[in-house]
This record gives sequence, structure tokens and C-alpha cells, in this order.
Amino acid sequence: MERIFNFSAGPAVLPLDALQQARDEMLNWHSSGMSVMEMSHRGKEFTSIAEKVEADLRELVGIPMNYKVLFLSGGASSQFSMVPMNLLREKKSADYINTGMWSKKAIKEAQRYCNVNIAASSENANFTYAPTQDQWKLDQNAAYVHYTPNETIGGVEFNWTPDLTHLENNIPLVADMSSSILSRPLDITRYGLVYAGAQKNMGPAGLTIVIVREDLLGETIKNTPSMFNYKIHADNSSMYNTPPTYAMYITGLVFEWLIKMGGLVEIEKINLTKANLLYDLIDTTDFYHCPVTKSDRSRMNVPFTLKDEALDAEFLKQSHARGMLQLKGHRAVGGMRASIYNAMPIEGIVTLVEFMKEFANNHA
Ligand SMILES: *Cc1c(COP(=O)(O)O)cnc(C)c1O
Repeated sequence: MERIFNFSAGPAVLPLDALQQARDEMLNWHSSGMSVMEMSHRGKEFTSIAEKVEADLRELVGIPMNYKVLFLSGGASSQFSMVPMNLLREKKSADYINTGMWSKKAIKEAQRYCNVNIAASSENANFTYAPTQDQWKLDQNAAYVHYTPNETIGGVEFNWTPDLTHLENNIPLVADMSSSILSRPLDITRYGLVYAGAQKNMGPAGLTIVIVREDLLGETIKNTPSMFNYKIHADNSSMYNTPPTYAMYITGLVFEWLIKMGGLVEIEKINLTKANLLYDLIDTTDFYHCPVTKSDRSRMNVPFTLKDEALDAEFLKQSHARGMLQLKGHRAVGGMRASIYNAMPIEGIVTLVEFMKEFANNHA
């Protein structure tokens, strides 16, 4: 069986090791006589899986005990509502940094519940950079500050962590890490809350992980549905209702793979090598162009255009024939986008770079 190099932005490539183990355990998990899909989420088998998934994530990131880890469904998009519903805590406004399509969606939902102060925006430059913190106009009365560390569509990444320690009111920092979580070390103590859909860098679609500081829980806005109340999920160890059990299991296999690889310090080195290979090629030819400011380029999602967009279709056709799929850029940006998450092997990048060189030479 031939596996292709899958550059999809999400759902995305998964580590072959994890998929093979899932295949081997598909019909009979650890002599239980059942597939993980068939298990009660409250039975001892799945309880042991769920506990290991959480323990491995805590080990990978280094999550202290005053942070809860929640395994939810509803996608990162549900978090756009859950964050204001749970974190406004009687406050009337929240600060948002607007750096692209996903920030905008988060802002649009938050506006249902509070005044949104756009503390900084890169919209004037077509979302091609990450505003430095000296450009942020933060409000001392904001309930929290929300930003998107990696804009999946624009390929813009904050390669630094915002620092809110100078603010008087202990305002929590909130991050939508859907497309960059676990791609590098993460100091969770700098954040009040981090959320991420699993399907970019952790596992299959259907699972959303929330890491939240315990003291922020318990005060929701009026009429918050139980399913949108973090405290209820935390108090029930994410078993208030049926969690996405199979997605949690696969995500657990991905965590085991990451630990075996050497954790986040090691994966960051590999990710840097991979991203540099691709950006170096883009920058050394005038055939390819990446619109993003160099310091703010994403290590996970690499957008680029060809010199002549009339060649786009031919580029996609030929790369497809060489076993590289999903390179078409998002319709909002055009051109190409190579998503190169943790599980994209370096061979995939080497194959892509070789092809890009050849394609540029043939169409110079
Ligand atoms: C994909 C993505 C989302 C949306 O995730 P869903 O799980 O589809 O709701 C939100 N934010 C970012 C940064 C993303 O990349």
C-alpha cells in the first residue's frame, strides 16, 4: 500500500506508528475482546485509556495540577462561544487580537456576549504579520485577552508569548492553539486558558482539548447551557456526557509517539528544520513568494504563490502525480499552502522542495 504525502490543513496527516497500532488493536483492544469504539466511556477499559491520555498530555506540556484538562466535542468553533460564556465573569468587555480568519470568527461569536475591543489588528496589511505587543492597546477592564498564536489560513504565527504580567487586574491570556499546539514547548502558566481542535496537530476530528486554570471556572453568564459550562465538564472529568472516545484513543497514541520522539523540545527542532527547508527554497527563487513577514512565518502552515497564477493548476496536477496532496491554498488567500504538522515526515518536505525546484526550472 502506497501512502501519499498529505499537506492538508486539517483533518491532517497522522503518525504512521499511531495508525498502525490502531489497526492492530482495532478489533480487540488489549485482550478486552472489543474495539475501543465499542467500549462504555465509564467502563474500566476506557477509563484507563482516558487517564493515560490526560497523564501523557500533562507530561508532554508540563501542566501543573491547578490546571484542568478537558476533553470536549464541538470543535474549536464551540470555544469561540464557551470562552466568553465562562470567562467574562461579570465583566463587560474582552480584548481580541485580530490576525486572520480564525481570529475574526472568534471575535464574531464573542460580540454576542460582550463588547469586543480589537486591541490590535493586521487586517490593514491583509493579515500578513503578527502585531508586536507594543502595538496592542489593551483595556485594563477586559475580562481576558484572546489571540490566535497560529493563523492556519494566512500562515502567520506568533513566535513569542504575549506577557500580561504588567497589567494590574491579573487578566488571563486565552489562546486558540488549534493548529500549533504541541509543535514546540508551551509554558502553560503564561495562559489562563488554551484550546485546540485535535484534527490539526493531535488526532482525528471530533475532539477538542481545553487546558484551563482552575480559579477561572465556576462563574458563567446567565442561561449558559450545561454542555457549555467548563466547570460541569471539569467536575465530571469530561464524562458529563459521552466524550469522543475513539478520537481520544487515537490522540493518546499520537501523544505516546510524541513522547517516544523526545517530547516538545525534540519535535520543535524537527519542525524548525522542516519549515526552514521550505522557506529557504521559497526565498532563494523569485519564482515562489511567501507574503508573510519573515519573523512571523508559521512553522505549521506555509502559504506561497507562484510567479504566474496561470501555472497553479499545472503545479497541483504535477505535485499530485508525485504523491503530494492538498497543496491548494485556502480560497481566501489563493496560491498554495503546505501544512507541515508534527506528523509530516521530513521526507515529505524534501520531496516537495525537490519538486518545487524542478517545476521552477521548467517554467522559468
Ligand atoms: C481549524 C481551526 C479552527 C476550527 O476548528 P473546528 O474544530 O473545525 O471548529 C479554529 N481555529 C483555528 C486556529 C483553526 O486552525
